[in-house]
Amino acid sequence: MADIVIIGGGPAGLTAAVYARRAGMETVVFEGAMYGGQIVNTPEVENYPGIPKISGFDLAMSLYNQASDLGAEFVMEAVVAIERYGERDWLVRSEYSSVKAKAVIIATGANNRHLGLENEDLLLGRGISYCATCDGAFFKNKVVAVNGGGNTAVEDALYLAGIASKVYLIHRRTAFRAEQRLVERAISTENMEIVTPKTVTALHGEDRLTGITVRDAETGEESEISLDALFVAIGQVPAAAPFAGLTVQENGYIKAGEDCLTGTEGIFVAGDVRTKAVRQLTTAASDGAVAALAACEYVRLR
Ligand code: NAP
Repeated sequence: MADIVIIGGGPAGLTAAVYARRAGMETVVFEGAMYGGQIVNTPEVENYPGIPKISGFDLAMSLYNQASDLGAEFVMEAVVAIERYGERDWLVRSEYSSVKAKAVIIATGANNRHLGLENEDLLLGRGISYCATCDGAFFKNKVVAVNGGGNTAVEDALYLAGIASKVYLIHRRTAFRAEQRLVERAISTENMEIVTPKTVTALHGEDRLTGITVRDAETGEESEISLDALFVAIGQVPAAAPFAGLTVQENGYIKAGEDCLTGTEGIFVAGDVRTKAVRQLTTAASDGAVAALAACEYVRLR
């Protein structure tokens, strides 16, 4: 039996693993996709205290190695359920295995939101992408677009401007949600065209994406843009569905305060999947520490 099972190997989950192992807890981390979570898709992280600039991938690997070197065990499987085991323990189940735990930290983060347009799934990997750092290199000297107005979209657009011949940055409002510094860089980037306030309404192409239709949010006028790729960066959807019966949720996020307590004894929550105002790498790491220390205390005192 593990003392603490952590579900999710992003910054929140891996930070929790570092703290739990340093407290001497038998710690198992389940991750269904890739260690590092969303930061793996971030080309450059420039706002993590003490590290002026690092690629999201390098930071993710460094966090993973730190937790692993401290003795955390990793299971590369997606968790499908948490069930009661006996009176006080929990059984964390994936499709293939299960681990018993005294306490559980849910740190499943969030997944990319899709546009919900016809052919979006069909054109995935054929011009539609949700990850500029993964797929950007395929579009050297091509024409691409990024859709979204947050930090991810603007960072992706800046990254792609160094690869593609032209980048359209398409956002549904004229004001960007992204940091001002990033927006200013985008505006002054020669091969970037800011397209606002426009919504993507259709994807064209059968075997590959060849273009899109955008609608002006103010006039309703539609126009077409020829493209080789569209990078969708319109935010995330929390990955809390498997824990719906076990936790109170608000708009799909697991409800908990800064103490990371879910209200269910022995179940803690950390990172982007928690109800919170600021979803940043730093706040995910902070949650990981808070949830782990609370879980350690719970395991010791129960
Ligand atoms: P986000 O901040 O939630 O931004 C999502 C963007 O997509 C918004 O501009 C939103 O428009 C737009 N959008 C949402 N649904 C849409 C739809 N159906 N159609 C068209 N546009 C849509 O998401 P994010 O950029 O992925 O960032 C997530 C969090 O991670 C944020 O807190 C962000 O600051 C953080 N982050 C930080 C860094 C960094 O600090 N280096 C890097 C990446 C992400 P509206 O603005 O109109 O709502």
